[in-house]
Amino acid sequence: SLSTRLARVVKTMKGEARLTESNTADMLREIRMALLEADVALPVVREFIAKVKERALGQDVVGSLSPGQALVGVVHRELANVIGADLGKEASQINLATQPPAIILMAGLQGAGKTTTVAKLAKHLIDTRKKKVLTVSGDVYRPAAIEQLKTVTGQAGAEWFPSTPDQKPVDIARAALDYARNHYFDVLIVDTAGRLAIDDAMMKEIAELHAAIKPIETLFVVDAMQGQDAVNVAKAFSDALPLTGVVLTKTDGDSRGGAALSVRHITGKPIKFIGVSEKIGGLEAFDADGFANRILGMGDIVALVQEATKAIDVAEAQKLAEKLKKGNRFDLEDFKAQIGQMKNMGGMQGILDKLPAQFQQAASQVNQDEAAKKVRRMEGIINSMTPGERAKPELIKATRKRRIAAGAGVTVQEVNRLLNEFDQIAGMMKKMQGGGLGKMMRAMGG
Ligand code: GDP
Ligand code: MG
Repeated sequence: SLSTRLARVVKTMKGEARLTESNTADMLREIRMALLEADVALPVVREFIAKVKERALGQDVVGSLSPGQALVGVVHRELANVIGADLGKEASQINLATQPPAIILMAGLQGAGKTTTVAKLAKHLIDTRKKKVLTVSGDVYRPAAIEQLKTVTGQAGAEWFPSTPDQKPVDIARAALDYARNHYFDVLIVDTAGRLAIDDAMMKEIAELHAAIKPIETLFVVDAMQGQDAVNVAKAFSDALPLTGVVLTKTDGDSRGGAALSVRHITGKPIKFIGVSEKIGGLEAFDADGFANRILGMGDIVALVQEATKAIDVAEAQKLAEKLKKGNRFDLEDFKAQIGQMKNMGGMQGILDKLPAQFQQAASQVNQDEAAKKVRRMEGIINSMTPGERAKPELIKATRKRRIAAGAGVTVQEVNRLLNEFDQIAGMMKKMQGGGLGKMMRAMGG
């Protein structure tokens, strides 16, 4: 799967500072395979990989990330953009900015989830936008489909306009539109027939329907489980109709969601909603970032990358962990590096935020300015020490303390306090040298 492939990839090739042609080649190959396995269509994969490569090459690898992890970060960003993150939140809104009733036309293959989505959408517009919604079925080939719409429309709390199999879809829609106008409906949602496969007659019928009623939204409904075929279906509908958006249904199934990438690529239209269950409430606004995580299947690594990019010097923490692992002692030089890190992380708060909940309250009582001032004074004190003193703090007796205090412009008591704090932390480090070190380093470094 995508996640296992990428997990393997990110573990490799630690310690390189940049993404290069050679250290990304293997990883890009894995990502290519993984996307194909996630049912993204080949041409889409090709274009996507080319884009990722262009973005990635020459990019610095932040902190302790491996090039693999950094590349996953690039892939995630690119993926999120391709599926619509760069369109912003408004992209998932239904456009109702027209003389009422705003008409929404549903298009898609049979079984894609059109009728179900009509009801879900009706409920959504009633609940969140306080609209008066009418539905009508133009699926004249299956009497059961008209009844189905009647049932689910009732569940949504919307009104259903009757139609019969002997009518023409265009006539049905016109009649419903008249009724909607006369009864002051805000929205008319028009359900349509779908075939099991694309056929010209069906495309012609829906194109005529579109021309007759001029909907403000023409939504292409596509099954996320459809996989590779989604591309051909999307192409056919996109060629036949001026689509305005996509609804990706059945994302609660075990598909990895590659269809999102394909459909966005082919139609160029925003994915507005996803279907997340059969139930009437099972419709959610499309969240490109979240969906990119799902396609990648690696939320943790993505979060790690995002975290590491936030100016936290995990590298320092790891260097220290390495040193201690080798049995070396924690000295004042290390202490100073740690203090410096606190500054990088936006003060103590940055570290305290990462502590377990029971410490959070204490954290909130820390005065950030005071903490920053303290950090600077502590650095000043250590700066006034000789390298020998920093390596062996036990050398620092009364005379040296007075010299250091004078150099740093602080009192001897302050020097003592710093040495006490150092002793405490050094003691902790020693205890941890056995185990649990990595855990603590992570807590400290992010
Ligand atoms: P249509 O032929 O395009 O109108 O498709 P339907 O709306 O009749 O849906 C076909 C089947 O898919 C039905 O059994 C629906 O309950 C089911 N379905 C539709 N959307 C979803 C979804 O988001 N999740 C799940 N699990 N099932 C869905
Ligand atoms: Mg239907």
